[in-house]
Parts: sequence; structure tokens; C-alpha cells
Amino acid sequence: MRKKIAVLGSTGSIGTQTLDVVARYPERFEIVALAAGGRIAELAAQAQTFRPRILACAAPGDVEALGQAAPAGTRVLSGGAGLLAAATEAGADVVVAATDGAVAFDAVFAAAGRGTRIAVANKELIVAAGELFVAEAKRSGAEILPVDSEHSALFQCLVGEPRERVAKAIVTASGGPFWEWEPERIRSAAVGDALRHPTWQMGVKNTIDSASMMNKGLEVIEASRLFELEPDKIDVLVHRTSVAHGFVLFTDGNVKAQLAPPDMRLPIGYALAYPDRLPAPYPADTLGALGGALAERATSLVFHRPDLDRFPCLALAYAALRRGGTVPAALSAANEIAVRAFVGGTIRFGEIAEVVGYAIDRTPDEPLSLASLKTADARARSLATAAVEARSALPAK
Ligand code: MG
Repeated sequence: MRKKIAVLGSTGSIGTQTLDVVARYPERFEIVALAAGGRIAELAAQAQTFRPRILACAAPGDVEALGQAAPAGTRVLSGGAGLLAAATEAGADVVVAATDGAVAFDAVFAAAGRGTRIAVANKELIVAAGELFVAEAKRSGAEILPVDSEHSALFQCLVGEPRERVAKAIVTASGGPFWEWEPERIRSAAVGDALRHPTWQMGVKNTIDSASMMNKGLEVIEASRLFELEPDKIDVLVHRTSVAHGFVLFTDGNVKAQLAPPDMRLPIGYALAYPDRLPAPYPADTLGALGGALAERATSLVFHRPDLDRFPCLALAYAALRRGGTVPAALSAANEIAVRAFVGGTIRFGEIAEVVGYAIDRTPDEPLSLASLKTADARARSLATAAVEARSALPAK
């Protein structure tokens, strides 16, 4: 029986790579729902190739055109109702949560509540609402399979291991394009510099977050939520070549690591196939080339401790995690505003951390609930916007 897959965020970086994996294993997987916010022409093309039962777009105005482009019998919906239907009404065995931000929270929660496996690539979801989400999945018996390479690595290292024997979980970081730069040069880095990532191909938001190392900070929070580990049990090591993605150090002193070429289709394939693994050859025509790249990169398994002074976003994320409640949600929301302002040329690179710090300093400690989450998210966005405006009003430094 083929596994039925729903992809939320099908035209994004993770979404298209998921479809690539599905297309390579047509005997194992079938697409039952696709949802995307924009890129309607691309979504329509995906629908023609994969013939989903449900197709969801963001804007009601796109429904008619999509309906004409989609194969006969495909239900075309829009907005939150469309996402919800894609996640819960197409009969999916696995929902790939690969949208950005908070747009798909309700749909993903609903799917998890029904016991559907969630392959989660939506960092904001786990950072902001991870405790609620993990509790919901435990209640229903839904499996959460991380798609992020580092969390897939930790998951793979933890299979069959007693959780109470974990001494440290270590996520690796490429260090991004500024790893060797002086602090002053980082502060005033240009957008083009920040978009030059050494090892991974990702969307703009993720790439900027990698340059600031906020991405790693969000991943530390994500690891804490997914694997229910205290902040002090999660470490970051910079590993420039992105071959080792994560380690687990156990209480007996043994360390397990997961190594693979930096190709997101590998953790995606694992999340879809688990508890099985995909059969060879993968990818069909380039396994040899990937093996070659791995051998070459593996000769330089070098690790460095991160420098929190040059990368203050990482320190902010640890601080948010230690405070807990809605503070991680505020961190993530404020960072979205700050990154957008940086990409738009309104603030300098170094001011991303200042804007985020401003917002979380003004976020109260409060218990986490779906309601407090929404309030905290909105408050952090307006605090961050005020901080951006204050900085853009200053003469250029
Ligand atoms: Mg990652």
C-alpha cells in the first residue's frame, strides 16, 4: 500500500524537494493534497503531475483559475479552510508541514489531533507551540518526524535509546557566511553577503537566519521541544562542511552521530519512509556523486565552539528557551519582522539582534496556551516594528 502524503507549502524549498522524493518512489508514495500560499502557476503544474484529491491556495481569487488547471475531480479550496481540508480530509498518512510562519498551525494541530504522522519542517510551529504540539501528538498517538537535518539526525541517533540516558544533544551549524568575519564587518553586512550560504540551498528567511545564527538558536529551541530536553542538555558546534548533522552523547560516554551529504531530500525521505528506509538507489542517478562528495567532505570533520559575542542571536534564543512560556514565540515573531526589515534595507544586519532583544525584553513571562501564543506573537511583531522604525529614523551610522 502506498503512503498517502499531504504537502502543506508545496511550492517552497522543502515542499518541492518532498515532491522530488515522492516522484522518485512512485511505488511507495502518492500525493493526496497540495497546499501553497503563492506561485499559483507552479501549484497548478504540481497538481497536473501529482493529481491530488485536494488542492489549497491562499487567496479565494485564485480558486477558479486553479480549478481550471487542475485535473477533473480535484477539490480546490482556499485560506485556512483549504489548509485544514488538505491536512485532514484527503486521507493523508503523513502531513508534511512545510509552510512558513504560523499560517498552518491550526491545520497541523488538527491533523496531529487525529493521529496523523506529521513530518515537520515548520520551525516556527515547534519553536512557538512545540510543547502544546508534542502534548497533542502524545494524546492522539501521532508521530512527529522532524525534517530539519539536525533534528532528523538527533531523531535517528535516539531511535531505540532510553531518553533518560541522554547527557547532551548536539546540533551542528555551518556557521554561515560570516563565521570568519570581524564583528564590525558582520554588523554592517549587506543582504547579498548574508544570502551567500556556504553549504545549503534554502529560502531567503532561512538563509538570513543562518547568517545571524538565529536559525541555530531556533533549532536549539526546536530540539528542546521535540525531544523534551532541558536547555543545558543541548549544545551547538560549528562544523563548516555540514556533513555531520547531529550527535547524541549518552551518560555512559558513548556518542552517536549522523552523517550525510547536505541534501534535504535525505531527511525528507527518512521522515516519509520511517520506520523503514528508502531502498537504493537514491537519488537514482547521483548516488555515486553524493558518495563522492561525502568522502571528500568527511576528510575534514572539524568542529568549533560558536562565538556568542559575534552571533548574539544564538544567545537570545537560549535566553528565550530558558524563560519558556510565550518567549520563544515572541523571539521567532520578532525575528521575522527584523529579517524582513534587513532584507528591505531598513535596518543593518547587526540590528536584527537588537530588534529581537528589544521585543523579548518586553515580553512578560506567561503560561503557554493557543490564546497566549497569539497575543504574544502579535505583541512581539508590534514591538519589533517599533524597534525597526526607531532605528530607521536614525541617521545612517
Ligand atoms: Mg537545520
